[in-house]
Amino acid sequence: MIIVGLTGGIGSGKTTVAKQFKKLGVPVYIADVEAKKLMCKSKIIKRKLIQLFGENAYVNDILNKQFIADIIFNDKTFLQKMNAIIHPRVARHFEKWLLKQNAPYIIKEVAILFENGGHSACNYIITVTAPKDLRIKRLLMRDNTTENKILAIMKNQWTDEEKIKHSHYVINNIDMEVVKNQVVDIHKDILKRA
Ligand code: ATP
Repeated sequence: MIIVGLTGGIGSGKTTVAKQFKKLGVPVYIADVEAKKLMCKSKIIKRKLIQLFGENAYVNDILNKQFIADIIFNDKTFLQKMNAIIHPRVARHFEKWLLKQNAPYIIKEVAILFENGGHSACNYIITVTAPKDLRIKRLLMRDNTTENKILAIMKNQWTDEEKIKHSHYVINNIDMEVVKNQVVDIHKDILKRA
């Protein structure tokens, strides 16, 4: 099974691009979404997150995202500890998911693919880019966040230039129609290589 990593900086449009691949029938695994589901479903993750962040980590059994985001924003060691709890379990979940797929290739969307070394487990890598100002504008519209918070996350991610150097395909996500055509071309190209 060919694994195609799909990555890009915050708000670049990874999920928007992933949806286009899904429309073509490609199985898509979105690591952030699965991680969030596991944080709600898995008793062991829940217990460990409460040990790390305290009882406020969950409110009525629902993950208290804002509370956790504020702690992480102020102290990066919490992010590392949280990742150490979640990443190995998402990795196992992905392996199980992969065994159930029946397709020439799958797309695995991971926001911090390069930063965590996950790119080495991918056969091909697609990086989604977009101008920084446009990403900030889109994120401010999508999320209840601030420019400062977005900039802080951007600072911890690889630059587009670094990601592009290690990628097989680059999608510059400005115009949706152009992106749709690019996805079709990349899809055909990967099928040829499969
Ligand atoms: P994150 O880093 O938070 O996971 P992401 O990289 O997956 O984000 P998306 O959620 O796909 O990015 O896109 C961010 C926002 O920008 C969304 O609200 C999406 O609808 C919008 N968006 C993405 N691409 C386009 C586009 N080409 N035209 C207009 N809006 C877009």
